[in-house]
Amino acid sequence: MSMVTQRKTTFCRICEATCGLQVDVEDNRIVEIKPDREHVVSQGYACVKGTRYASIQHSPDRILNPMKRVGSEWHDITWKQAIAEIGAKAKGLIADHGPQTFGHFVGSAGGANVLAPLFRGALFAGIGSKRMYGTGTCDTMNKFRVNEDMYGSPMRLAYPDVENTEFLMILGANPVVSGNTLYHLPRAAERFRDIGKRGGQVVFVNPRRIESAAAGEHLFIRPDTDLFFLAAFANELIRKFGVDRERVKAHMKNFNGLEKTLQGWTPERQAEVTGIPADTLRDLVRTHHQAKGAALYMATGVNQGRNGTLCFWLLECINAISGNLDRRGGTLMGEGLVDMAKQVTEDPQMMTSYDRHDDLPTVSGQQPAGMLADDILSDRGDRVTALIVEASNPLLACSNPNGRLDEALSSLELLVSIDLFRNEVGDLAHYVLPATTWMERPEVPYALQSLAGCCPTPYMIYADAVLEPPPGVRHEWWMYTRLADEMGVTLFQNRAASTLAKTAARVAYTSIGKHLPGPELLIDGMLKGGGLPGRKEMAKKHPHGLLLPENPGDNFLGTDRMLTSDGKVDLAPTAYVSTFEESVERRFEEEKQNADRIKLVGIRQLRRMNTSSANSPELVKETTNYAYLSIEDAGRIGVENGDLIEVESDFGKIEIPVRVTSEMMARTMAIPQCWGHKVARGLRHAAKHPGVNSNLLAGDGPDNIEKLSGMSHLSGILVDVRRFHA
Ligand code: SF4
Repeated sequence: MSMVTQRKTTFCRICEATCGLQVDVEDNRIVEIKPDREHVVSQGYACVKGTRYASIQHSPDRILNPMKRVGSEWHDITWKQAIAEIGAKAKGLIADHGPQTFGHFVGSAGGANVLAPLFRGALFAGIGSKRMYGTGTCDTMNKFRVNEDMYGSPMRLAYPDVENTEFLMILGANPVVSGNTLYHLPRAAERFRDIGKRGGQVVFVNPRRIESAAAGEHLFIRPDTDLFFLAAFANELIRKFGVDRERVKAHMKNFNGLEKTLQGWTPERQAEVTGIPADTLRDLVRTHHQAKGAALYMATGVNQGRNGTLCFWLLECINAISGNLDRRGGTLMGEGLVDMAKQVTEDPQMMTSYDRHDDLPTVSGQQPAGMLADDILSDRGDRVTALIVEASNPLLACSNPNGRLDEALSSLELLVSIDLFRNEVGDLAHYVLPATTWMERPEVPYALQSLAGCCPTPYMIYADAVLEPPPGVRHEWWMYTRLADEMGVTLFQNRAASTLAKTAARVAYTSIGKHLPGPELLIDGMLKGGGLPGRKEMAKKHPHGLLLPENPGDNFLGTDRMLTSDGKVDLAPTAYVSTFEESVERRFEEEKQNADRIKLVGIRQLRRMNTSSANSPELVKETTNYAYLSIEDAGRIGVENGDLIEVESDFGKIEIPVRVTSEMMARTMAIPQCWGHKVARGLRHAAKHPGVNSNLLAGDGPDNIEKLSGMSHLSGILVDVRRFHA
């Protein structure tokens, strides 16, 4: 009997580009995924990760039932048993050690799940635990900290107006390969090229000549010296070209403090350590000043350095004092379906707090991932003894000096992994709980796109689930709600709402309940709250997305969307100025002293998204990652393509084969991150293509954490490199 093929329209949730997709489905299996040519923004673009997603969706390694580890043996169990045992164990540990003993870790794949955070947050708030960790403190948390201090909310996040800018400078990002972080820009290469076509300039500042550089110009910069470059850029702008005095006076404060802090940072001085000639910096500042609309943007490569918060502060200051913040062609503050930025200011969990014993911050609800091993291995009474890890593989994604995090997770009394696969964390866990894929969820795009409007071409899309989940798989919202029910935790600090959620979860997978609407009604509420049609109408009438009015700018400064207490942008928050003054000269001297040493940075690869695509035979063909070295460094060390090198930092040592390339700046080495699947018994393809985990070279603990945001230091690590002799 021939099967009926259904074509379903959806959007990808592997990265924040959220490209439109057309999925051909037969008998609840994907036959083919193609880019959606009619999608209002991606317009027929999708990368290989999206179009080959069937290899993950239908992987033979996917977990299809809850599993429990007994010794080294894994057994399928029922959901009833899983929830009862996990709930009872967690309750007992909380009774013995207090609520802070129960922690949670979420990966970046969890960011695409719009409903799960509401229920996860409600469970942990109900328990009274603040031990929420995540990969946010490995890649972006510095930005949320700066947004809070400059604009009043971690989620008040400006994005570059790519469609109208005449000058765009991008530091530490390779958007053509990895998508952009914290704003939505499918077809990035084409849109960058369009800037050049209309007479503008796009400049990528990066220690590697990245793939994105083909869409603009490229400047090498010594890793983790962006602070000196940005300080000199801002100072040159102030001294030579002046600032938008009117805008600064009306909407900003502490300009004099900023100006004073930057004194002495000349183009010549930064050139001593960055590798960017003084005249090149001067030319950049001049072009930036002359452009009708200019924007600076930075991402992971800078965020992961030792000065991520200070860098983003200065970058935002440049955008602000030059008059480009909240201006067409500069950087814009979007408007989402709801004003999430305002809402989070009413949630103390989401605002920066200093209630850890070590005075490290909790930013945007996340404690530093680089402290997780310490918090578990500590002998303090409030040490973490129980942890749920959702959609993540922190053993590979986080600093893990010589496998210390493996040791920590192995020592937990309760470790639960919620994932599609039994990855390395799952292997150490007591329970693994099978989650749905994004193909199995009804959804709107990422919260920052949908609820904060970080979207150069504003639009909204809603997609129903493309596939029915396997019968033994559950949504995360359901797991958290059932656990709350089992543990007697009140959700949402509201008995009525809690009872409603628990009742919905109890019946959700019964024969009657599966026909009743669940929390996806909340998505209806979001859409309608934003003045749009509900889910059904969106899916029917606007399956390829609904374009919304353009953001014209001039709708943030001086309005009630600016959320600082006095309505002004703080250009010189006290903590930043004091950190800058205390550290900048010391760091500058360290840079000069270490100028001859090699620094390690990470790379994103087109066929991999963090650890989540590692088990796809369609995407991962090579058996290992490589260390990319410049021709000069390879010659000095005496290695050629394919030779094995030993890389040693203050924290660990790895062996990895070399690729010699003219793409790399001298004294810089790049290793693609999130490899190292050496013990992944539940990821059979990844285990045969293991590669090497470069995060074994990164330090953890308080000395390796950026104090303002809790970010781990994962980029710009000093290493010694030598030929490996077995
Ligand atoms: S660019 Fe991102 S959203 Fe688009 S198809 Fe690739 S992974 Fe998916």
